[in-house]
Amino acid sequence: MLIDKLWELQELQLDYRQKQRLLEESDLSSSLTTKIAETHDRLTTLQSQLEDFKAQEAKIGEKLDELSAKVHEAGAKLGKEEMSEDKVQKLEEKMKKLTLEKEKVEEAQSRNFHDRQDIEDQIRAAEMLAEKLRKELAAIPQSDDVSRAAVKKSLPALEKDIRSRKDKLPLKAKLIFENLSEKFSGAPVARVTSSTCEYCHVRLPQKTLVSLHNVGSDEGAEDLIRCEICGKILYAPTKDRE
Ligand SMILES: [Zn+2]
Repeated sequence: MLIDKLWELQELQLDYRQKQRLLEESDLSSSLTTKIAETHDRLTTLQSQLEDFKAQEAKIGEKLDELSAKVHEAGAKLGKEEMSEDKVQKLEEKMKKLTLEKEKVEEAQSRNFHDRQDIEDQIRAAEMLAEKLRKELAAIPQSDDVSRAAVKKSLPALEKDIRSRKDKLPLKAKLIFENLSEKFSGAPVARVTSSTCEYCHVRLPQKTLVSLHNVGSDEGAEDLIRCEICGKILYAPTKDRE
């Protein structure tokens, strides 16, 4: 009967969708794996940059200590020793030079500090991204290469089968089936169990139940009975029809 054909068609259609989803998920999971590896490479680069900045910072610190000591030394000499005016002038010039050099090194220190903070921010961002990607990947069901290849191979035949079955349906039934398929994610038919629509869980009116048990066998779309609540085509398995 028409309704049995629609039910079978729906099973095939759902199988097809599920296989398609599996392939999409495995594509997504391999692209996520690539992204995670890229993020880790980036983290490695950033961390080595951070090490460079730390080393640079230590060097600048040493240089500053050295300069401060020299300035101090010169200042002490100026205060203590009796010296010619000429010597005093030279010493003052030296101090001026040292002070200027010190200022430059201090500027370099502050630049280095800001660059280092920037790298640290980037590291934090990359770590958060890697964590987010890892969570996304973990949420995807994993399939092995063999089953993925088998699924990919089976899809064209399945698609052909679905198409040829659809083409054999009466036009009106085909249109209803296709429209409802779009509306209900590929599942336009709802099974009836215990006088209830399995999709919307509403108990069907007596009139509908009677019609379900008395479907004609003339294969027309007029014979399709729809749930008054959700609109799906109702399917009573054969044993329930008798
Ligand atoms: Zn329903």
